Amino acid sequence: MSVFRKYSTYLQEKYGEKVYKLSINLPLTCPNRNQDNLGGCTFCADVGTGFSSAPSIDVKKQLEERKDIIKKRYNADKYIAYFQNYTNTYMPLETFKKYILSAVVPDVVEIDISTRPDCITDEQLAFLAEVKKERNIDVTLELGLQTVNYKTLDRIRRGHGLAEFIDGIMRIKKYGFEVCVHLILNLPWDDDRDVIENAKVLSALKVEQVKLHALYVMDHTVMGDQYKNGEFEICSAEEYQEKVITFLRHLDPEIVVQRLLGRAPRENSLFVNWNQSWWKIRDSIEDTMEKRRVVQGDLCNYLGGKAYEQEMKKQK
Ligand code: SF4
Repeated sequence: MSVFRKYSTYLQEKYGEKVYKLSINLPLTCPNRNQDNLGGCTFCADVGTGFSSAPSIDVKKQLEERKDIIKKRYNADKYIAYFQNYTNTYMPLETFKKYILSAVVPDVVEIDISTRPDCITDEQLAFLAEVKKERNIDVTLELGLQTVNYKTLDRIRRGHGLAEFIDGIMRIKKYGFEVCVHLILNLPWDDDRDVIENAKVLSALKVEQVKLHALYVMDHTVMGDQYKNGEFEICSAEEYQEKVITFLRHLDPEIVVQRLLGRAPRENSLFVNWNQSWWKIRDSIEDTMEKRRVVQGDLCNYLGGKAYEQEMKKQK
């Protein structure tokens, strides 16, 4: 049995076979980069936050190209169209509709849209609900949060706080879509109490999925300059592992974990995953949890009126 609820297993259960993500890269920016007084999150490099194909080619073509590669490699039959880079809801409604409909193609069973908690509207959600119903396709929203510590959010210039995140989650839930939340578990300004609160807030809000990242630092960013000036330090790989374990133990066991740390681009980077393979760190976390006999959710005992229950137990 796995020590945490794995995304691959969840997809296999949901769709009856392996499902692969096809990244789509749109010619976009994000509201946090596009305003003179903001300038973007301090860790964000020009390329956005991921790796995918050039933004000039159309969505259908991008999907076909990625599909050909994945089909040859894994003999896959079902796919998730993943709008990955920047803020994929930051555009006029009609443009958004056009892009989303272009991704409704044979063999794509789900559309996955990455965005910011403060950049999703009821009009967009109502349109997605229509697409889901009429085209019989699942929709997931991926929200970048990074941390529930709103003071750290200010410090890394996210341009939103915790309240905007809660608002985004509540409105998405009204339309019944699944949500995946992205967190950076080792932001240098957060401590272990923040790690626990991250797990608690996601569990209390009943989000469906989470994706964890270890902080990586890119050159030519505000954070890159701070790092070079010695303004902060990054915790060790061992400390990161402990943070992940603490997080998982406090996380509702129903929440699906997409990953424990990300692959990060090496080009132009100043710090990436302690110069180790991401999968080695992932395996080490799993091995450690197995050895300690701890699992996701074994400390998730704080919801549902805990204080009342404890008092009642005492009185028995
Ligand atoms: S929200 Fe995303 S794309 Fe926008 S500045 Fe932050 S990391 Fe970059």
